[in-house]
Amino acid sequence: MKSALNAPHLCNEEAAIAYVEAQLWPDGPVCPHCGTIDQATRLRGKSTRRGLWKCRACRKPFTVRMRTIFESSHIPLHVWLQAIYLICSSKKGISTRRIQRTLGGSMKTAWFLMHRIRLAMDESGGGPLGGEGKIVESDETYTVYKEGGPTWFLHPEHGWRRRTGGDRVPVVTLVERGGRARSQKTENITAATLRDVIFSGVDTKSRLMTDELHAYRRIGRDFAGHDAVNHGEEEWSRKLVDGIMAHTNTVEGFFSLLKRGIYGCYFHVSEEHLHRYLAEFDFRYSHRSALGIEDGERTDRAIRAAKGKRLTYQTARGGRSGEEEIPF
Ligand SMILES: [Zn+2]
Repeated sequence: MKSALNAPHLCNEEAAIAYVEAQLWPDGPVCPHCGTIDQATRLRGKSTRRGLWKCRACRKPFTVRMRTIFESSHIPLHVWLQAIYLICSSKKGISTRRIQRTLGGSMKTAWFLMHRIRLAMDESGGGPLGGEGKIVESDETYTVYKEGGPTWFLHPEHGWRRRTGGDRVPVVTLVERGGRARSQKTENITAATLRDVIFSGVDTKSRLMTDELHAYRRIGRDFAGHDAVNHGEEEWSRKLVDGIMAHTNTVEGFFSLLKRGIYGCYFHVSEEHLHRYLAEFDFRYSHRSALGIEDGERTDRAIRAAKGKRLTYQTARGGRSGEEEIPF
């Protein structure tokens, strides 16, 4: 049997280093100090750190980990690659507990490892979705409960009640049909907020699809086209004159996956870290199998995205118990 987990770069450190080098440096080693490409010598020798290079231009040593999410981590690179493979191949996400049990180490290490990978997966800084002839759906949902309040409250008449919609963190997601997804947590769902999210995330040459929310009407006027379905009137989709379907089923499908992940797998995602989980779900969606991108290629894309990203500080408990440096 050909198990994906038997791949050399997931089992062997030398192979893992070579693999990451090939992904990050397709044109040869790049010196992170001076930027010189393919002018470095691999340092070998018993006492030399594995994967060490010396730049012939600036004479400084470096490894492929520098200036990436892997920097200043003591976790072997092949274990990093195992974690990236697991997170990229698990459609609804993978819990920190599962990662810790599978890869070993402490829960804290697993937690930081996962968050660094989520940082690599974050594509929110990329270009706008859509464009001429493209359709972008926008929708909003309420996810995890806001910080600082109990999930249950004592209602004066009805006893203990679970908190409802208003106390949850809103998320606005934009999905380009046949393309990428981008989610953003927001303070509220007002016209101004939607405006910000949509104008910064969608090319106005696109055709916008939304529900009947009033705020979308004015926003829609600035786009090449805008169609809304009236969920209040139980209208879920409508065939338009040019044969295109007006609906927001694509973005709703994304939400159902996100919610199954958050509630079924991650259980308590805090408001503070929600954006990292959104980046994770966006990434898997934007590089999904339906677009012909399978687990291996999705993992390679996440590895390549590790470049130029560093999480230099991160608090485990929202800073309440003091700032903590990454412990590895
Ligand atoms: Zn150099």
